[in-house]
Amino acid sequence: MPWGEPARLTVPKWMSRPEVESLLAQQRAWLEDQRRRQVPRLGLEHLTVSESEARISARELVSALAEEEAERLGVIFRRIRIGDQRTLWGSCSAAGTLSFNWRLVLAPLEVLDYVVVHELCHLRVPNHSKTFWSLLERSRPDWREQRGWLREHGPELLSLRPLA
Ligand SMILES: [Zn+2]
Repeated sequence: MPWGEPARLTVPKWMSRPEVESLLAQQRAWLEDQRRRQVPRLGLEHLTVSESEARISARELVSALAEEEAERLGVIFRRIRIGDQRTLWGSCSAAGTLSFNWRLVLAPLEVLDYVVVHELCHLRVPNHSKTFWSLLERSRPDWREQRGWLREHGPELLSLRPLA
């Protein structure tokens, strides 16, 4: 279920009310578990930064990190795009454009750094093969920690929709 939105159960038309209720009872533990995970923990509700301000900082930070790391990795990227992806943190096109979600600027710096290095590594290895992960591991031995952070807190951060 999407972060922060009410749960919805879709049932076939032919299902009787008692059947629906027993299905709900079976799902209850799962639903409650999902809800427990959806407690806001990032403090985003107190955020005073606007999206346009956040995008500017995201671009500055990402560009600085990417330039430094690209040189170390011996890769060349063409440009950096800061986007408003709903489900993605970063992507890398064959033409060398690296795209990043502006919300990354609200994550810990190591997490943003991990996503930048991850996309840069794709310029060498365009898939998620063993070669890719070992290349990433050489640059960022603690990448699992950052990926874990994104798995745990990513949905909350992606749900952020500031007004401006
Ligand atoms: Zn990837």
